[in-house]
Formats: sequence, structure tokens, C-alpha cells
Amino acid sequence: MKHRRSKKWWVMLGVVLVAISASFVTCIPERAMKVTKNPRDGASVGKVAIVYSMRYKVSFFGLEKFHPYPQKSGDIYLQLVRDGLVKPSDVFVPKEISRKQILLVHTERFLQNLKDSKKIAQYVEFPLLGNFSSGLLDSCMLSAFRRQSGGTLLAAREALKHGIGINLGGGFHHTKPDAGEGFNIYADMAIAIRQLQTDGAIKRALIIDLDVHQGNGSAVIFADDKSVFTFSMHESDIYPIPKEQSDLDIEFDAGTGDEEYLNELADALPGIFTAARPDIVFFQSGADVLAGDPLANLQLTTDGLVKRDAMIIDACVRRGIPVVQTLGGGYGENAWRGQYRSIRRTVERYSAPPNTSNR
Ligand SMILES: [Zn+2]
Repeated sequence: MKHRRSKKWWVMLGVVLVAISASFVTCIPERAMKVTKNPRDGASVGKVAIVYSMRYKVSFFGLEKFHPYPQKSGDIYLQLVRDGLVKPSDVFVPKEISRKQILLVHTERFLQNLKDSKKIAQYVEFPLLGNFSSGLLDSCMLSAFRRQSGGTLLAAREALKHGIGINLGGGFHHTKPDAGEGFNIYADMAIAIRQLQTDGAIKRALIIDLDVHQGNGSAVIFADDKSVFTFSMHESDIYPIPKEQSDLDIEFDAGTGDEEYLNELADALPGIFTAARPDIVFFQSGADVLAGDPLANLQLTTDGLVKRDAMIIDACVRRGIPVVQTLGGGYGENAWRGQYRSIRRTVERYSAPPNTSNR
């Protein structure tokens, strides 16, 4: 009897073909994108080093369009270039984080799990991916996560030299030593902290995690480590449930707006710096606190987001503490614009070369 393919199979094939064509139409990089392909040093703009690679894009033949994972990096980078705030040659382009660096935080068992496409699909909450080979997933998707994680380490190293390192990606705060979760694979900030400690470049670190979801992975990784202070400010009634215990957690109810949020943060910050005594700050600047975010229910405005980020960056600069910013979440259509405005403000404020005001 002749084999007949099921209707479901044809629908699936259709979805893949449409997605592939869509990705060819929309993913042709502008010239400025191509410049950021291969790893290289850039040049800081005053105190600010921007880290990005066109290889940050998590891609799977266009199927990523059916997943909420935020692809904000390229939009923010191109807007910074278009507005003349950064030249493509200024941008620091990272390599992928290495296996040895991953093992500073994660276990061998975790690396074994990443050879199982069903496990990867579970970590990024996209069951469809379980049907593909893990090798394909590694080259299309995991490599982008490794590249963004390499970006966080590079941004940290540049922050130690110039003051502020901004990685236009990263902020994977949900993943734990043994397993990824919540769209996150490698714990980029934790890996960077461990590498800098191993290098002797820092002793103590502070994670300021303002993504709307709790930094549960960071809390677990550093639970028994007094050299790293974890602070998370998030919405109480959404993923992750149950929450883990950071060194300090501040929770908000759904519907909280700018005033209450910013007042709580301003009140908490001085005590956090005193308790943490950090040599470096990792700032997870998730934009999913914005009103209208499809995965959360806080009500911050874009102005509120810019003020929030300014509060952190300025507090670090005022204290002379290097700060690394990662993008984290933000799933609304305008999340990238809010983060762009915030980064623009940082570049404009801190782009003057050192000592020019004295001349
Ligand atoms: Zn989030």
C-alpha cells in the first residue's frame, strides 16, 4: 500500500518553508552588521565599551519567530550606529565562551544534556525543537547563546578598563549548574564572575537583577558564596514559582508602576552596595518590567525604565565601581526601543574622553 503522509506533516512542512523564506527576506544583514561578524577589539567611547556580534541572533531557519525569545540586540546596535553614537569599528566583538569556561559554573552532566535535543527544547520551552538533531541545534542556537555569554565576559573585562561595559545580549539568570530553564542555556554572568575571580581580576561581585522575573539561577549558583551578592527585584506572581532565595529579594505585585518601583530601588541601593562591597557590578537590565509586556504585569513606562537604568549606572560610576550591563528579557514590541533609549543616555552621558573637562 502506498504510504500517505499525514495532514499534520504537510502543515509542519509548510510552516518550515514559510519560516525559511521569511528569514531570508528579513535576516539579510546591513553592512554595519557584517562588520561585527568576527571577534576583535573595538574602542571604548569615553567610559563606555559596547559589545555585540551579528552572531548573537538565535536562529532556527526562521522558526524562532514562533518563540517569544527576544531578538533585540541587532535592532539596538543598528540604531546606535544610525544615530551616530557608536561606529561599527568601536564595537568589541566577542568569541564564544569556551567549554572550560562553561565548566566554571555548569556540570559535565549539563554538557551531556546539551547533546539531547529534547532537553534543549525543554530548556528553551520550545517542544518543536526536540524533533531536530542536537548538532543542528548546537550550530544554529547554542552557539548564539555561547557567543552572547562570551560577550558578557568581554564586556566585564572592558568595564574593568573603562568603567562601563554594555553587552547587547546576555543576562541568562535562570539557568542553574545542572540544567537550563526559562529560555536560558549558559549562566553568562556567573561564568564571567568565576572567570574574573580565577584570573585574579576581582574578588567580590554584585549582581543587580532588575528583570521582571527573579534571577533564580544566580541565586542558586551563589547561594553559599559570600564573595557574590545577589539582588533581584521582580514581580511576585509569575515564573519562576517557587522563587529561590537571593541575598536580597524585593517583590512587587502586578500593576506596580514607576513611582513605587523607583522609590523602592532608590531606598535599597545604598545598603546593597555596603553589604556587597563589590569590585564589579553585573546589571541584568531586563525590559520586561514595561507595561504591556506579554509575559509580565508591571506597569513601568519607558521613561521609568530609562530612570531605573540611569540610577544603577550612575550609582556605580559615582562609586568608581566597574559595571557590566546585560539585556535580559523584554518581550513587548517596544522593549528594544526602551533599552535603546537607556543605552543611548549612558553613551551620551559618559562618552566624553577622560579629563576633557579639565582642559
Ligand atoms: Zn524576564
